[in-house]
Amino acid sequence: MACEDAIMATNDDAAQCKRFAVEKGYWVDPYISLLVPKGKSIHAPEINRGYYARVMGIRNLIQKFVEITQKECQIVSLGAGFDTTYWCLKDKGLNPKRYVEVDFPAVTSRKCQQIKSKKALLDKLVTEDEDIMVSAYEVHAGDYHLVSADIRNIEEFEAKLAACGIDKSLATLFIAECVLVYIETKFTNQLLKWISQHFPTTMFINYEQVNMGDKFGQVMMDNLKARECFLHGVSACASLETQKARFLSQGWTEATAMEMINVYKLLPHADLHRIERLEFLDERELLEQLYSHYCLVWAFQDGAGVGLQTIAV
Ligand code: SAM
Repeated sequence: MACEDAIMATNDDAAQCKRFAVEKGYWVDPYISLLVPKGKSIHAPEINRGYYARVMGIRNLIQKFVEITQKECQIVSLGAGFDTTYWCLKDKGLNPKRYVEVDFPAVTSRKCQQIKSKKALLDKLVTEDEDIMVSAYEVHAGDYHLVSADIRNIEEFEAKLAACGIDKSLATLFIAECVLVYIETKFTNQLLKWISQHFPTTMFINYEQVNMGDKFGQVMMDNLKARECFLHGVSACASLETQKARFLSQGWTEATAMEMINVYKLLPHADLHRIERLEFLDERELLEQLYSHYCLVWAFQDGAGVGLQTIAV
């Protein structure tokens, strides 16, 4: 399998894991099962709890961004895969003015197929006064856009955002959930710089591996390498400090980085209590190892002074 195919296949893994955790009751997502078929694997409780912290940590920040901007905002999901956030936000009445999902054409074409064929997905895109355009690789519908682009290619990416009507002066949240780590550092730097130079009011949420230099990190990398999937951006994942530095060095005003173990502890306690009773956890140590090898990073610059500095998990 070519490296790019292997990277795209990580989307199937993530989507299967999320579907499995949703079916176990970790969080509510009526849409994931419409996008991804039921997998054959059974996932260990540590994996389910890992995904729980990942999804809830990110959702928590997204929700605060939409609330603080009073929905006068846009969201761009980079390497969105089969993510369902657009539909879940809409159910809560928290939809931004524009929501753009970007991925390679081989991934967006599959998402297009599912959107076309699943009424529950399609219905949420329908607006009274705008037509839905669904092609082989893209969907353009009112406030939702699914586009194919390689985010390493800024010109192509910028043109696709323009075609979706992205307004650079509006508060814009970029999300990269387990994406940047697959991209060479020079391209990630180029992307982060381009965003900070063109979007005066912007926030970035990045979730990915961290502390990969130790023994456990090495095992994680070897597993991916065995599937011909290389973590090109691993040098940027050395520590929480390097995670923050890559934003600050590309013009962002502030950045915060947290290991998932600490993100988990900050999630609403009543819900933690609920999910901790869903499955018996044998290997607490393994869970803690996992949590300390993933992090949530958020960075911003707040040209319009909307209060982005108040956003935290
Ligand atoms: N963000 C989704 C989630 O967490 O459920 C999918 C994560 S998956 C691990 C990584 C995704 O990033 C894949 O869908 C892959 O195709 C996409 N991706 C990686 N490099 C990309 C690039 N240069 N341009 C566009 N998409 C990319």
